[in-house]
Amino acid sequence: MELTKALKAVIRTIPDFPKPGIAFKDVTTVFQDPALARRCVDQILAEFPVSSFDVVGGIEARGLILGTLIAHDSERPFFPFRKPGKLPWKTLRESYRLEYGENALEMHVDAVGEGQRVLIVDDLLATGGTAAAATRLVRRAGAEMTGIAFLVELGYLDGRAPLLAEGLTAQQIRSLIIFGEGE
Ligand code: AMP
Repeated sequence: MELTKALKAVIRTIPDFPKPGIAFKDVTTVFQDPALARRCVDQILAEFPVSSFDVVGGIEARGLILGTLIAHDSERPFFPFRKPGKLPWKTLRESYRLEYGENALEMHVDAVGEGQRVLIVDDLLATGGTAAAATRLVRRAGAEMTGIAFLVELGYLDGRAPLLAEGLTAQQIRSLIIFGEGE
C-alpha cells in the first residue's frame, strides 16, 4: 500500500483531546507497526539524505520517538528539545505563542556544535510555533538547519508560515502525510 494510505489507515483522530475543539492525531499506532515505522524512517531519509545532516533533534514528546529512530538508523547523534524545566544541564530557551497563552522549548547549550547541520523531527505540524522555536534554538546554538521532518501536517492550519518566516525554504519542510480539515 502507498505510504500515505497506510498512514491514513492507522492514524486515529481523537475529538476534543486534550481539550474541547482539538482533533488530536494519535500516531502511537505507527510505532506499534515496525514495518510501517521503518517505511516512515526510510521515506524521511530519502527526503533528507544522511549526508545532509550531522545531528538529529527530536521535539518532545512524540518527536523524541521518531527522532531517535531516525538518528539510530542514520548513525547520527541525537538531542532532545523539551518543555521548560525538564532538561538537567544548562539550556537555551525560546518562547512561542499558543492559541491561548504561551509555551517554551529548551535544548542543552552543548547539544550541537558550531556549524553542525541539524535535522529537526516532530510527529506533527499544526500552527508551526513549536518547530519555529526549535529552529531559533538551533541557530542560537551556532548550528545550521538542514530541515524539519514531520509525520503529519495539518494542512488547514498553515503551520508552514512561521517556518518560512524563519527563512526556511519549502523544500526544508517535509511531512509524510497532509490532513485536511475534518479528515
Ligand atoms: P504547533 O506548534 O501548533 O505546530 O504544534 C505542534 C506540536 O503540538 C507537536 O509537537 C504536536 O505533537 C502537538 N500537536 C499540536 N496539535 C496536535 C494535534 N491536533 N494532534 C496531535 N498533536 C498535536
